[in-house]
Amino acid sequence: MFLTHLDCPRCGAQHDADRPQNLCTCGSPLLARYDLPAIANAVEPGDVERRGADLWRYRELLPVRSAEHVTTLGEGWTPLWPAARYGPAIGLNRLLVKDEGLLPTGAFKARGAAVGVSRARELGIRHVAMPTNGNAGAAWATYAARAGLAATIAMPHGAPVITRQECLVAGADLHLVEGVISDAGRLIAALIADADGAIFDVSTLKEPYRIEGKKTMGLEIAEQLGWRTPDVILYPTGGGVGLIGIHKALLELRTLGWLQGELPRLVAVQSTGCAPVVKAYDAGLRQVEAWPDASTVAFGINVPKPLGDELILDAIAESDGTAIAVDDADMLADLREFGRLEGLMLCPEGATCLTAARLLRERGWLGADDEVVLLNTGAGVKYPLDLA
Ligand SMILES: *Cc1c(COP(=O)(O)O)cnc(C)c1O
Ligand SMILES: [Zn+2]
Repeated sequence: MFLTHLDCPRCGAQHDADRPQNLCTCGSPLLARYDLPAIANAVEPGDVERRGADLWRYRELLPVRSAEHVTTLGEGWTPLWPAARYGPAIGLNRLLVKDEGLLPTGAFKARGAAVGVSRARELGIRHVAMPTNGNAGAAWATYAARAGLAATIAMPHGAPVITRQECLVAGADLHLVEGVISDAGRLIAALIADADGAIFDVSTLKEPYRIEGKKTMGLEIAEQLGWRTPDVILYPTGGGVGLIGIHKALLELRTLGWLQGELPRLVAVQSTGCAPVVKAYDAGLRQVEAWPDASTVAFGINVPKPLGDELILDAIAESDGTAIAVDDADMLADLREFGRLEGLMLCPEGATCLTAARLLRERGWLGADDEVVLLNTGAGVKYPLDLA
């Protein structure tokens, strides 16, 4: 296929894509690069449009070389619904919601897991390990089982119980830890160090292929709009992989010549209980400081110190976007209002984007006729919300 190498966005070093790789020697995440001119010669948008309704329709822009390694449960090609009542109610005439809650394991983490596990299997990896806030671990355990790989997962006690059950059903070696995801990360790092190369670290952004799966959200948004971009994309940002991935996808499509014009303004939405990216953005910094005592019911975005901070902040800056934090109480009220008007139960992370859209419209950062896409990153039914 068209994967050429891995690139370090910080120091520019190139790395061999055909053996397992974690971070660059400089400590930065690595990005997969493709022979885009060759792809442009080999395939056109019309070819993609005739393919199956899953993320493998973009196979030339994905890192898995051989179809026999593709590990799938039917992930991708989620609907992009107009919010025809809720949008105008908050002053947005063209609000669209991409519903990732329909994916296997009930969250968009399935995209990263499907591609990451497929590529790990192709590279001969037999055992993967990661810390998680729940949904990523559930997805990776599920796809690892599907691929016949072993999985070790560590998550905070407070993670949604259903995600534990998903890991256990998939036969993962599950560890529950006190604290937050970074505490789970320390446990995983110790297990990997003891395993002498037998366990591969698939922590967020520590391997380069999860982001390739997540970037398909951006590819789909462009295709679903008829190979054009919306004005703004709102993304609930924890590790930021989806935001970085969407940005990467749109740049690749532009290089392919499949997309013209401006990039959409990318908005990182966080919780006021854990807003390290917003704080760094507001201070004009390029790195985040760890957020103390991080806490939000939007568990998937409770990430005190994302490893991809520079990439997140660059994506926001390059696209002329912004970063905004919202309160849990406001988010839950908006989640209910959206359900009342549209019928769909967003996940709390997705619902943070409702509050962000409302506030950004009030402040005039969004115009009434801006076309705004928000990502509902998971299924509301996965969460034990106490709404009564
Ligand atoms: C993981 C997760 C997020 C945050 O995703 P990143 O790409 O790591 O920022 C958002 N929503 C849900 C439901 C998640 O599980
Ligand atoms: Zn580097």
